[in-house]
Amino acid sequence: MSAPLDAGSPAAGTARSAGATLADEAAELRFRDPGRARALAAAIDRVCGQVGRAPVAVMHVCGSHEQSIAKFGLRTLIPRSLDVIMGPGCPVCVTDVPEVDEAVALAQDGVRIASYGDMLKVPGSAGSLSDAQARGARVDVVYSAAQAAELARDTDEEVVFFASGFETTAVATAAVVLGNPPANFSVLSAHKYIPPVMEIVAEMPGARVEGFLAAGHAATITGWAIFERFVERHGLPVVVAGFEPLDILAGLLTLTELIRDGTPRVVNTFPRCVTREGNRNAQNQLWRVFRTTGGRWRGIAHVPNGNLRLRDEFAPVDARRRFDIDVRRLWDYAPSQLTQVCVCGDIMAGIASPVDCPLFGKECAPDTPVGACMVSTEGTCRIWHQYGGHPDL
Ligand code: SF4
Repeated sequence: MSAPLDAGSPAAGTARSAGATLADEAAELRFRDPGRARALAAAIDRVCGQVGRAPVAVMHVCGSHEQSIAKFGLRTLIPRSLDVIMGPGCPVCVTDVPEVDEAVALAQDGVRIASYGDMLKVPGSAGSLSDAQARGARVDVVYSAAQAAELARDTDEEVVFFASGFETTAVATAAVVLGNPPANFSVLSAHKYIPPVMEIVAEMPGARVEGFLAAGHAATITGWAIFERFVERHGLPVVVAGFEPLDILAGLLTLTELIRDGTPRVVNTFPRCVTREGNRNAQNQLWRVFRTTGGRWRGIAHVPNGNLRLRDEFAPVDARRRFDIDVRRLWDYAPSQLTQVCVCGDIMAGIASPVDCPLFGKECAPDTPVGACMVSTEGTCRIWHQYGGHPDL
């Protein structure tokens, strides 16, 4: 079991990075103060007790929140009166099989594919991009859309950037599309848009979520006001929180207070980064390049307006228009029986956890992932596996 919030441990980030000053370090550690963390946890327990039913259940919709919760051992600190459920916050995990198939089909046809490292192992109908690479396809790992465009500049080959990520990452893709990329560069978008999937999760049969912890980095782009309509429609509070331990605990405390008081509204507990309006410049770029459309999120459901696709005016940069992508030949491969056991979708919908899966840590591990949740560093199964593999990590 990881020791929670040991400010002197490497996990608490005490190793000073190059260029960081003592003042930077001290500021960072203030958000990891063990005494304050314990006080916040006690306050959460008190408030949940006042709600009068236990446990109170809330959901976070961001893999980065789950990473912080696991890394700092916060589940040992969060009282049993509060159930913090993981939601669909991993963009790699929700990339659907047909989207992976499109990338694999292109790769098998000799088109050079560039994508984020996590995307290479995500299984499609006939294996992953990594499998295609092993069979001789050209697949490059990149760290950004800009790097994929650079790759295209250095070659005459067609380079397709298989783009994944939520609105935060889509902004970076949009900037490259608007930045006059080379003629041999195009984008196969698997970008997703978070607000619509919150609607789906809130309405799922069996859902017991009483409030949402929203991701601070996405809200930095979108602004916190974007959640107001959701709150109106569903009567559930939303609290925007950052990623340091005290950010998360303070966000959870505010969320439980809103639940106790029956006053659903949006509260921003990450004001050092998030404003009501967000980053207008980034939003303009995002919506100039992308439009929303409905599509399946792997294992969850069809999410109306949950996918981001390039607008018609960017057809020359859209790999789906530029190439005739035939994925039907991949459908001859029957999915493995192990794949059918995977409960990744239920985990992302908040109705199961990794330990409910009989394959967790056995047939399914980071080197041999069966489902997408074990692939990405933001996938719940991968995070739990990395930090100890049990619910109290
Ligand atoms: Fe799917 Fe693997 Fe997670 Fe099981 S452990 S739910 S197979 S990703």
